[in-house]
Amino acid sequence: MAASPLIYLDHHATTPVDPRVLEAMLPFFRGDFANADSLHAPGRAARAAVESARSQIAERLQITPRELIFTSGATEANNLALKGVMQAAPPGSHLIINAAEHSSILETADRLARRGCRITILPVDREGRVAPESVAAAITPETALVSVMTANNEIGTLNDLAAIGALCRARGVLLHTDAVAALGRISLSFADLPVDLASISAHKISGPKGIGALFVRRGDRRIPLEPQLDGGGHEHHLRSGTLPVPLIVGFGTASSLLQDSRGDDTRRLAELHRLLWQELSAKISGLRLNGPINRLPGNLNVSFDGLDGDALLTALDSYLAVSSGAACSASNREPSHVLRAIGLPDSLCRASLRFGLGRETTGAQITQSAQIIADQVARLRAIHKKSQPPG
Ligand code: PMP
Repeated sequence: MAASPLIYLDHHATTPVDPRVLEAMLPFFRGDFANADSLHAPGRAARAAVESARSQIAERLQITPRELIFTSGATEANNLALKGVMQAAPPGSHLIINAAEHSSILETADRLARRGCRITILPVDREGRVAPESVAAAITPETALVSVMTANNEIGTLNDLAAIGALCRARGVLLHTDAVAALGRISLSFADLPVDLASISAHKISGPKGIGALFVRRGDRRIPLEPQLDGGGHEHHLRSGTLPVPLIVGFGTASSLLQDSRGDDTRRLAELHRLLWQELSAKISGLRLNGPINRLPGNLNVSFDGLDGDALLTALDSYLAVSSGAACSASNREPSHVLRAIGLPDSLCRASLRFGLGRETTGAQITQSAQIIADQVARLRAIHKKSQPPG
């Protein structure tokens, strides 16, 4: 009997490249290989493709194309935002982040602290939210930048960026957001949101790995930003390096596909995560939902009381691709810093699964996955019970 195909439920780690994205990229790996900075005809054609992709992404975010700086991904965009602003600010300036951010924010802030910046790491509430009042209370005359993620990539918390942005504006402080997990899952318009800088990544929206962007608002005042890569002066001198034309074209196409199906994707993904929660909680006792009920569409994070998380992941390995936290923290086997930040004890952090549903996920896969998980949880709990000395 043929084994059933593995069900992929880890779309927060990465997504498969959409076939339409691949088709759009292929010519730029083949004949259309020119450097987008060359002045000859093939170079000009490559430049046109880059600028057309930039416009597709800008349209999706409701910004102007020249407000987008291409980077190698959101890790680099987050580094550029934080290091770029803090290095351009007077020495001893203050940066505010929070405990539930991605490692590319936490580790960057840590390095900045070692270089003399003052850092405040705000706590989050039990659902992972950053309270706007705590941001307001932490701002000092030295604060140069606040960074708050739009949506959490582990537990699906949505932050109130409108409120946080408004208070940052009122105090003359810049606001950066890591919008990686939110893009494509909720409606995101920087025309309305009072955000100055935002990081995005193509591989989370059915685009290729290795390309992302930093949105840098060009309003009345220029945002002071130190480049982190010097060289040929690409991207308004903010990020030098030959542009990866095929990847940029793929990013543009992936963004335009979002635009076509945004409302539907959001609704469908929310229905699927609700279905998964219903099915799991109907079949399994001792479950805990991590993160809020009203959450990022397509995200679910649950802890299984009294289970060893590693044993569960091993048991599920031939059926499902899921993770116990962000891909980066899962590989070093440390309990998730996000689950710790919302107050979970390490034993529960370890016995947690993060689900990321995506464009190709079906209702049938959700029902099947819930049954597989219920069977494996029951099996592991029975083994555990047998191994306990009689009471
Ligand atoms: N921020 C968040 C919230 C993410 O989930 C990720 C990817 N795991 C990143 C930043 C880093 O993105 P990239 O892989 O493009 O460097």
